[in-house]
Amino acid sequence: MNSERLIERFFSYVKTPSESGNEAAFCELLEAELLSLGLSVERDCVGELCGSNGWNIYARLDGTGDAMLFSAHTDTVSPGIGIQPVVEQGIIKSSGNTILGADDKAGVVAVTEALNSIIEKGKPHRTIEVLFSICEEPGLLGAKHADFSRIRSRQAVVLDNEVLGEIINRSPANMVLNFKIYGKAAHAGMAPQEGIHALKAAANAVANIPVGYVDEISVMNISNFCSPGKTNVIADKASFDMEIRSYEEDRLQQHMAACEQAVRHACESVGASYEMVTDRHSDVIYVPENAALITEIKAKLKQLGVEGKITKSFGGSDATYLFANGIEVVNLGIGMQSVHSSEEHISVSDLETTVRLVESLMESAN
Ligand SMILES: [Zn+2]
Repeated sequence: MNSERLIERFFSYVKTPSESGNEAAFCELLEAELLSLGLSVERDCVGELCGSNGWNIYARLDGTGDAMLFSAHTDTVSPGIGIQPVVEQGIIKSSGNTILGADDKAGVVAVTEALNSIIEKGKPHRTIEVLFSICEEPGLLGAKHADFSRIRSRQAVVLDNEVLGEIINRSPANMVLNFKIYGKAAHAGMAPQEGIHALKAAANAVANIPVGYVDEISVMNISNFCSPGKTNVIADKASFDMEIRSYEEDRLQQHMAACEQAVRHACESVGASYEMVTDRHSDVIYVPENAALITEIKAKLKQLGVEGKITKSFGGSDATYLFANGIEVVNLGIGMQSVHSSEEHISVSDLETTVRLVESLMESAN
């Protein structure tokens, strides 16, 4: 790894704006770098599906031993235009009111700098595959639509989490529910007894559904409660949305059934009816603690003086879609901090260690 080049490269990345949906310029820059390093590079056409002018980048460098996929996302949240990065006392941050964009350009640069380093030193390496995805922030859209037939690796690391040393091996199933409650309109002053109050039924249901950490492995939320109408009319419609995340599918199903039961009871007590629509956002990801991939990452972290810590996260990442496509994957902490805010920063030393980790994973598997 070349520290000076790493910082220069990282700065050029964060100065190239790539807010979600506008990644094209950054994609162009990365493709040119990967091609100049000698990788084979392909792009797909999922930009339109994702509402983006960019594309996912797939790159490969053939080597010996099992292939490994290195993945990071090219988009950032807002405000991500006009980023002026500075280094102060070993910490890289933005000098203005923007984000820094270490999420996830620290992950991206770890891959390109590690590749550059391995290639210039002529080091032996495994087959290295790269997936740089677009539109991760608005809902993992690039990864969701990615063409996994272009990827041979059965193992992958996603470089998109905060604390260096953390190895996320578990992510929850995530289900979004929409409830619509139907009552009957009537004049609120002249004939309220003829109405069926959908808003009251919905409110009763919501009052009986717990939110937050509902057990040790599950979390729920309720949002978007609405019942538009006038004060002189009994509300005949109400709706609300919910999200349930659980590290176990069975538990998710139990919570979902309990939520539906709360709505059914609330409706039955006043004669209202309801409709429930479900939308699955992700399945459970679980890579066992003793999997070869995790053992290898822990050993390589140890060589760098970092203790690997296996952990789980209720948050989403592109790992969801890699796992769904049969790839054993963990999401690694890379040192970025306070992401999605103007306080976002990363230490030079964490960035360097992340590059060294990626470099050592790219070298031959044994
Ligand atoms: Zn990210």
